[in-house]
Amino acid sequence: MSGIGRIHSIETFGTVDGPGIRFIVFTQGCPLRCLYCHNPDCRNAHDGKEVTVDYLINEIKKCKSYLRKGGVTVSGGEPLMQPEFTREIFDRCHQLGLHTALDTSGYCGLEIAKPVLEMTDLVLLDIKSYIPELYYKVTNVSIEPTLAMAKYLSEIDKPTWIRFVLVPHLTDNIENVEKLADFIATLKNVERLEVLPFHKMGEYKWEQLGLGYELKDTPPASAEQVQQIVDIFRDRGIEAIGAIAL
Ligand code: SF4
Repeated sequence: MSGIGRIHSIETFGTVDGPGIRFIVFTQGCPLRCLYCHNPDCRNAHDGKEVTVDYLINEIKKCKSYLRKGGVTVSGGEPLMQPEFTREIFDRCHQLGLHTALDTSGYCGLEIAKPVLEMTDLVLLDIKSYIPELYYKVTNVSIEPTLAMAKYLSEIDKPTWIRFVLVPHLTDNIENVEKLADFIATLKNVERLEVLPFHKMGEYKWEQLGLGYELKDTPPASAEQVQQIVDIFRDRGIEAIGAIAL
């Protein structure tokens, strides 16, 4: 029997959420409240639309010819809010011979995440800051579950890309970045780290939803700022790159 879940949308030709060309499922619902969220309409778990795994797999099959060197990414929102749905999508993708990537903030109990991780080939783990108070300020939740997830992924040697959004005057605090880099250097499984420059492309969505957008006056991160932060990670032997803004 096919499971059912809530999604915000799908993208059939994604190029920034994992290796190769990817089919992306954006699930609905997220427990975080990131100040820079570019998809605030993904956050309320009751919005979006209900779909079956069968429906998604049929859509994925239509794209299969060009997904062979890429795969399927489940992003959000937060996919681990719907662990059984996400696991079933990945299980069915594996039956089709497709690579699976999970884009998560890691804000989830490990016992809930483990069955999903068994079906995940690559984790895209968003770590939004390192200093606990700053992490809370950015996301409105505690950093502890994300750090526990990062350590667990290292223990089981799960291929992982870390993503860090560089927001001027917020996450660019050097102590914050250096502590994050020191932590990531202790992990054995991190294949790359992407520094994503903050942008305001989601601002209009905040306005449409009638939400106050606190970063209205924050400038976008410049290429020089991104490079400076990339170098902090590289100094610790981490494969860091400046990535395309999400
Ligand atoms: S984790 Fe992603 S979807 Fe959730 S609030 Fe943060 S940026 Fe938005």
